[in-house]
Amino acid sequence: MVFLSGRLEQLAFSQTMAVIERVARKRAEGRDIISLGAGEIGLPIPEPIRRAAAEAALRGEERSPPVEGLAVLRRAIAAKFERDNALAFRPEQVIVGNGSKQVIYNAFAATLNDGEEVVIPAPYWVSYPDIVRLSGGRPRFAQGRIENGYKITPAALDAAITPRTRWLILNSPHNPTGSVYSAEELSELAEILRRHRHVFVLSDDIYEPLTFAPARFATLAAVAPDLAERVLTVNGFSKRFSMIGWRIGYAAGPLALIEAMGRVQSQVTSGVATITQAGALAALAIPRAELDWIGMLFATRRERVVEEASRLPGIAFPRPDGAFYLYLDVAAHIGARTPEGGTIGDDVALADYLLEAFDVVTLPGSYFGTAPALRLSYTCPDEQISEAFARIGRALASLDRTGRRAA
Ligand code: PLP
Repeated sequence: MVFLSGRLEQLAFSQTMAVIERVARKRAEGRDIISLGAGEIGLPIPEPIRRAAAEAALRGEERSPPVEGLAVLRRAIAAKFERDNALAFRPEQVIVGNGSKQVIYNAFAATLNDGEEVVIPAPYWVSYPDIVRLSGGRPRFAQGRIENGYKITPAALDAAITPRTRWLILNSPHNPTGSVYSAEELSELAEILRRHRHVFVLSDDIYEPLTFAPARFATLAAVAPDLAERVLTVNGFSKRFSMIGWRIGYAAGPLALIEAMGRVQSQVTSGVATITQAGALAALAIPRAELDWIGMLFATRRERVVEEASRLPGIAFPRPDGAFYLYLDVAAHIGARTPEGGTIGDDVALADYLLEAFDVVTLPGSYFGTAPALRLSYTCPDEQISEAFARIGRALASLDRTGRRAA
């Protein structure tokens, strides 16, 4: 018997991580599983990054790193913001953490009082609500609509803000829908935020390099410089450089906030391993042109998966402009019957059916706050993607939708 705090009782083990563990068990049993569940880009890490980290290790750079990150790395990150985003930060306004996940945790832990609210547009990345709850805050969901790519509208934002709101989370390109906010859309949201001066914005830009033309990446602090004192811009190395296992991310924003986040980090994890930071520094030195192929690879795959998904029966989805996800509305299949006589009661049951009967992993929209839906990620090789869609097609065709109850 363990004792759990009230806070922890509200907290689930990361559902996406639980699926990863379940799939690993099935593969160990010899099942030929194709996973469209991953949030991992799955490309090799560029060689200069590995070499720089190895050299740092061999030089014996294993002493305790500064909490907010090595000065040289904070300078390089400030230069990245200047070069890529036209954002001017002093190095002290930059903090490096153990993944952007921890950076986001630091921000909320440093600022939320019990019961204060964070507006989270839904669907959302699974961890946002739990990180808010763990920090004593209360998520307030603003439900997006498929017609608008599930993006939050100015009116929905305005309606979600209360006197207790401390933060709004924006994420573009977006997990789980692949939607991208244009500069114009961000300007319209900025108009609302100007009227609510007590609201800060956490802009999670981790999928920045995966923005597909003609869509263009835009970030709030650059679109509305007058709001910069209330914006924390978060980014990381996991997607751009496939460094998810190296656990490093960063943020830049108002100095007082960055210092407060550093205080949290100093008591929770200390600074990121110096060896990882050496790799990150080498990553930022790679000319952008050498990494452009990654965006192009995913833009091409996007076309393929959109085509494949359009052929599935009873499915609707917004065309993604970035990241590596498709978010399928599966309402037409809820209540359908399987050949074995079972009922697909919700999207969790549908994802289970796809996994158990067709060996393909998808994640239910219920995890992401907008159901019934399935999130498909297209990070696996092209042959597997075709096979996965063939299996999903067979699975959906096997369902009897006559006489189903409306969901
Ligand atoms: N933000 C979003 C929207 C994500 O999808 C993820 C990971 O999947 C993260 C943040 C966390 O990334 P990391 O902690 O690896 O930097």
